[in-house]
Amino acid sequence: MFEDVMDRIYAACNRVGRKKDEVKLVAVSKNHSAQEIEETILKYGHRILGENRIQEWQEKARALDNIEWHFIGNLQRNKVKYCLPFELIHSVNSARLIDELQRVGESKNHKFKILIEVNVAGEVSKQGLPLADLDQLVDYAKMQTQVELKGLMTMAPYSENPESSRPYFEKLHNIHDRLMLDELSMGMSGDFEVAIEEGATIIRVGSALFHA
Ligand SMILES: *Cc1c(COP(=O)(O)O)cnc(C)c1O
Repeated sequence: MFEDVMDRIYAACNRVGRKKDEVKLVAVSKNHSAQEIEETILKYGHRILGENRIQEWQEKARALDNIEWHFIGNLQRNKVKYCLPFELIHSVNSARLIDELQRVGESKNHKFKILIEVNVAGEVSKQGLPLADLDQLVDYAKMQTQVELKGLMTMAPYSENPESSRPYFEKLHNIHDRLMLDELSMGMSGDFEVAIEEGATIIRVGSALFHA
């Protein structure tokens, strides 16, 4: 539930001497209707939402006003043209996708804010970019006029134990500092407190808000 998650965010910030406004909560509203979102998130005054499917998001975007939308899913190049309303695209993982963002950005006179999604653990099944390719894609993103690289995103391997995420979050934090980027998007329902302790500036929380 919303207030419970906020309490846990504040407590995690306090443990490591961070201010609560250093951590942005993206409430992941995928699989939930506009009405559920109203009752579970918006009624607390929170208006930052994350979605992972363009078509599902478009339906909700028609129903809900004054939302800061974040895209957190696997983005197909043919859907980039719909992405102008997103405040931030968390899941950029290839030069081909950056090329398409640049192309659409030029034609619509828009600058996309993006994060590069990194597969820190090297899991075969994950969408993110291999760590070995990161520096090259960061340089490539920085060369684009219509793409603004804000930072990095990751998902830790699934585990019941939040502590098992810590080494991956710590590793990405170190890389993020070396690259001197602003935003670090990491931590979900199972591990957002660990992510805050390890320097996340954005957490993406779904199920802990909607089912508790
Ligand atoms: C669904 C999703 C989340 C939220 O997951 P929960 O475990 O429900 O908090 C966060 N990030 C991404 C990329 C997701 O797809």
